[in-house]
Amino acid sequence: MARCIGVLALQGDFREHALSLERCGASVREIRTLQDLDGVDGLVLPGGESTVMGRLLTEEGLMEPVRALCRSGMPVLGTCAGMILLAKTLPEFPDQPRIGCLDISVVRNAFGRQTDSFSTELAVSGFGGDEKGQRTVQAVFIRAPIVQDTGEGVEVLSCFEGRPVAVRQKNILALAFHPELTPELCFHRWLLEQ
Ligand code: GLN
Repeated sequence: MARCIGVLALQGDFREHALSLERCGASVREIRTLQDLDGVDGLVLPGGESTVMGRLLTEEGLMEPVRALCRSGMPVLGTCAGMILLAKTLPEFPDQPRIGCLDISVVRNAFGRQTDSFSTELAVSGFGGDEKGQRTVQAVFIRAPIVQDTGEGVEVLSCFEGRPVAVRQKNILALAFHPELTPELCFHRWLLEQ
């Protein structure tokens, strides 16, 4: 049976993630309530607005259950706002509601405003590729965060201008950019391969 991947669908670009996952052959479930989490094999936290998603996660009673799934070892992919939700430390917004179980410190909107959004080629480790084990992907940054600091056990998979933009800690993969807006499927496939 196809693996069932849940996509948090409270806000943000969850439909694009669902399309990428379907292209990988996953069965996709949009997550809006506690019951939706039943039986999923993996989880995507999409891009969007982390403050809104954090508030809705709390209001819908999903914050603690999602945190528990992240801690249980379930594969989780967070992109952009999803990365912010996963970050343990947000120095500028310490009280912003979030899942907080990935040991990174993140600065929101680190590249400026919406109009400063951009797309660039990035070399990423850990997803096949050339003889150095690096794959070149097209990365779309939209009011993207940057990883300022990483804790022990956090692997840096890619940097942009010297700062981490793709990291992994065990079962949690977090990207500052948006693979769901490009044909690139390696990150969604990773969820299915865990
Ligand atoms: N700037 C947004 C935030 O702080 C994230 C932007 C995005 O997900 N594209 O939540």
